[in-house]
Amino acid sequence: MSTLQIRDLRASVAGTQILHGVDLTIGSGEVHVVMGPNGAGKSTLSSVVMGKPGYEVLGGSVTLDGTDLLALPAWQRAQAGLHLVMQYPSEVPGVSLDHVMHEALTARGRATEGLDELLEAEAARIGFAPELLHRALNVDLSGGEKKRNETLQLAVLQPKFAILDELDSGLDIDALRDCARRVEALTNDTGMGALVITHYNRLLEALRADVIHILVKGRIVASGGPELADQLERDGYAAYVPVAEDEPATSGSLDDLFAL
Ligand code: ADP
Ligand code: MG
Repeated sequence: MSTLQIRDLRASVAGTQILHGVDLTIGSGEVHVVMGPNGAGKSTLSSVVMGKPGYEVLGGSVTLDGTDLLALPAWQRAQAGLHLVMQYPSEVPGVSLDHVMHEALTARGRATEGLDELLEAEAARIGFAPELLHRALNVDLSGGEKKRNETLQLAVLQPKFAILDELDSGLDIDALRDCARRVEALTNDTGMGALVITHYNRLLEALRADVIHILVKGRIVASGGPELADQLERDGYAAYVPVAEDEPATSGSLDDLFAL
């Protein structure tokens, strides 16, 4: 049983404070979903927890089973068992997926025998064309292929905790279902915990959420069960977004908020 604990996390980027004290505790096998309007700080949260350069931590802590992750560079956070699936996966010319997985397992002190067979099996399971395993990582792949590829990496590396930043962006319905199902299976079979950032309930049809959190302006303003996602889909974020006195009230539809 492992625990990823985020305590009173405050952080800025380019001199502007974005996170104003975020608290989240995720245990093995749990799926915590963070929803919130554009610009709320969701990607900033995932970047700060993973250790992407360019963010300044102003206070608070992030620990994995007591290990201070904020003191470690990103690659050591990965070795400690954290994995980030980025909203927009990077293209890496000249480096193939099988090569990356070989290096990543070796860096974790794990065996690489049978890796080719495992990659073929996982590719078949997630609907990823096997010839893409040997091509440059993410280069010229469609949005759906990129996210299948990223999900395949999760299945091979089996991190203790995964952060999925809008796994659903750029995915068609079939790819979304395949990826969400594979992540759900990892939470059940390997006890992987997940911090899932999404705008859409559809992802949660195949990936069972334990807790939904609403992030607004760098703070978690509400947490609840899966019914909270249904309520958001119906009513939007209006009830959670502070409206300045001299501003007209928003209509409360999700589209309005996403247009901000
Ligand atoms: P979300 O993922 O919830 O849509 P982000 O975390 O991407 O929100 O962004 C939160 C705020 O931080 C936004 O106002 C965004 O413009 C700003 N921001 C994010 N990254 C940078 C950056 N590298 N430089 C300047 N501002 C940034
Ligand atoms: Mg984002």
